[in-house]
Parts: sequence; C-alpha cells; structure tokens
Amino acid sequence: MLEELGVKPIINANGTLTVLGGSTIPDEVFEAMREASKVYLDMPQLHAKAGEFIAKLLKVESAYVVNGAAAGLVLSAAACISQGDPSKAALLPKTQGLKNEVLIQKLHRNMYDHNLELAGAKIVEVGGDHETTEADLENAVNHNTAAVAHFVYDPQKGVLPLDKVIEIAHSRGIPVIVDAAAELPPVENLTKFYKMGADLVVFSGGKDIGAPNDTGVILGRKKLVDACVMLGPHSYIDVNSNTKIFIGRPMKTSKEDVLGFVAALKRYVELDQVERMREWQGKANYIVEALAQNGLVKARVITPTKGSPRPLCIPRVEIEPASPNVSAGELLAKLRNGSPPIYAYTRENRLYLNPHCLKKDEEKIVASRLLEILNTL
Ligand SMILES: *Cc1c(COP(=O)(O)O)cnc(C)c1O
Repeated sequence: MLEELGVKPIINANGTLTVLGGSTIPDEVFEAMREASKVYLDMPQLHAKAGEFIAKLLKVESAYVVNGAAAGLVLSAAACISQGDPSKAALLPKTQGLKNEVLIQKLHRNMYDHNLELAGAKIVEVGGDHETTEADLENAVNHNTAAVAHFVYDPQKGVLPLDKVIEIAHSRGIPVIVDAAAELPPVENLTKFYKMGADLVVFSGGKDIGAPNDTGVILGRKKLVDACVMLGPHSYIDVNSNTKIFIGRPMKTSKEDVLGFVAALKRYVELDQVERMREWQGKANYIVEALAQNGLVKARVITPTKGSPRPLCIPRVEIEPASPNVSAGELLAKLRNGSPPIYAYTRENRLYLNPHCLKKDEEKIVASRLLEILNTL
C-alpha cells in the first residue's frame, strides 16, 4: 500500500518521534491487534480488564489505557479539576466555580503543557527562570489549586525535585500529575514516579514501549484513575435528561489500540534491557569507527544532554565538522534527500545520530551514506 501511495519508509536515526511515526510494532503486538480487529467488545469492560492487568503487572493501584500521553495529560488535569464528580466533569472545559489552577514550575514549561488547558485548567507558573524553591511552591498553592504538574526532564538544574514537589503538594491535599511520556528506558521508570508518590503518571505507548503511536497509559491512584475513565471516550452522563458526552470523547482508543498496548507492555517488561543497550552502543560505535579515517569530520559516541530527544540514557553519535567545507545542516539535508531518506538531528553545527530506532544493519547504511556524502564534498 505504501508503494501505491508513493510513500517511502525512512531510516530513523532521530528517535521515537511522533512526527516520524513513533515506534515500529512488534509482530506479537500486531497479533493482539488483529485479534481485537475480528470481534466486537464491550469497551468499558475491555478497559477495566486491561487496566487491572496492567496494574497487576506493574504493581500499581490502577491503570487506564489512553490514546497517547498528551491525552493522558488532558484527562489527568480534568480528573483533578472534577475529582470524580460527574456533574462537575460534564462542565469541562468550562471551570466556573471549580478549582482549576494547575501549577507548573516555570523551568518545566514545554510544548506539551498546553494540553492541560484543553481540560479547562489555568496554568500557574511557579518559581523563576533559574530556580524553583520550596517556598515558591508553598506560596503558589491556594484554594483554587487543582493539581501540580511535573514534567520529568531530569537532570535539570534548579528544578524543585519531584520528591519535594510531592511532599509539599500532599501536605496541602493537592494531587501531583507526572508527565514521563518519553522517560523509557530505563524500564524502572515505569513505576519509579508512582512509587515516589505521584498520583497520576502518564507514559506514551508509541515510544519505547512499542505500542501503536496513538496509545499511552495513565498509572496511579484508583480514585483519580477512575475519574479519568469517567471522562474518557466510552462514558456519558444524563444531565437534566440530556445525554452528554465528556471531553475525552475525541481521545478515543480503539479495541485494537487497547489490546495492542497491553500486549506491548507485557512484552516490554520482559525485554532484555542490557542487551538492548548493548545493541544501541554497538550501532553507535560502528558508525564512529566507520568515520574514524575521514578527516572532514570528527565523530564520537556521547551521552546526550538536555534538549536532545529523550531518553537521555541512549548514547548518540556526535559528528563535528572538521573542515570549513562541511556543515552539519548540509550533511543532514543530504541524508534526508537520499534514498532511503535518513532522518537525524543537528544542534550548534553538529550532526547527531540516535541509534534508538535503527533496525538491524541500518547503522551500516547510515555510515556508508555519510562516507559517500563526505567524499563528494
Ligand atoms: C511524547 C511526549 C508527550 C506526548 O505523548 P503522546 O504519547 O505522543 O501523546 C507528552 N509529553 C512529553 C514530555 C513527551 O515527550
């Protein structure tokens, strides 16, 4: 079908980015999706059973499969604002008379936090450009505070750490929402933030977990996860004999998504993470060695820093021009314009290759294409 459309697969040396399709789907995950595709199911029952399965697997109180971490943020904020009260939930995104402030450290402002506002939340910034203190957070909490949202982008200088955020928020009875969408691996992160006491934690299914890109999960305390479920695509309410859907309806998960996510997560927690890391390291080393004799660039394997595609624990190849004839931007453009197109990223005149999504032997194609390009300069 791709050929019929004239769409060519690319080599992804950038990361599990939604704009590049997120992840590839392992056969056994696809098999679960196929199973779902052949039957009709009671969706609330499927969600309840899937949630129980995930909760048991990860030893968390409750779980809800959603159509992406961004949707997880919307539903989490909505759940904290409406607190499981259907008549309040039915008002959203209008929040007149409801506690609607969601606190975010100024240092955490990012392109995804806007999703919280879809629920009707009013974002209130906490702290300054370089630091958030305990007092900043303590002083920001008031009678309109619905939740604190914490984005895991560690290590991040000056940020009030999650344990402190949880301590302060909980001492005031305020729930904490954690966005850990792309913080896998390490696999331990699946439960780390929950164990620290976060009330709702969202992850993407379509990144390292290897589920369809339009999946994700909310893990957390039963009462709040139940409030998310109520707001979700498969429930509705009668208000004064008027049937109304909730704001989660456009965030629909198909039965194929739900079963696919469960199958992917089950597989994910059993993967040999040491071996995966060894493969990524091996691919990065291969590219660096292939370029070692080329005088036009200096290539090395690095641990990525803040601002790089997540997760930071996966090594990257950094390619630095060593001649005025070479620019990182030009290398990237030539990689993308070749066949198959190779997608990577640049920062400050350096080209970066992420081995996370490279399939078997694609590191060889990337290395030989780079050498070819360098030979023409
Ligand atoms: C990817 C990402 C999201 C969005 O996740 P989806 O699963 O694509 O909806 C939200 N927050 C952060 C920090 C992310 O990296």
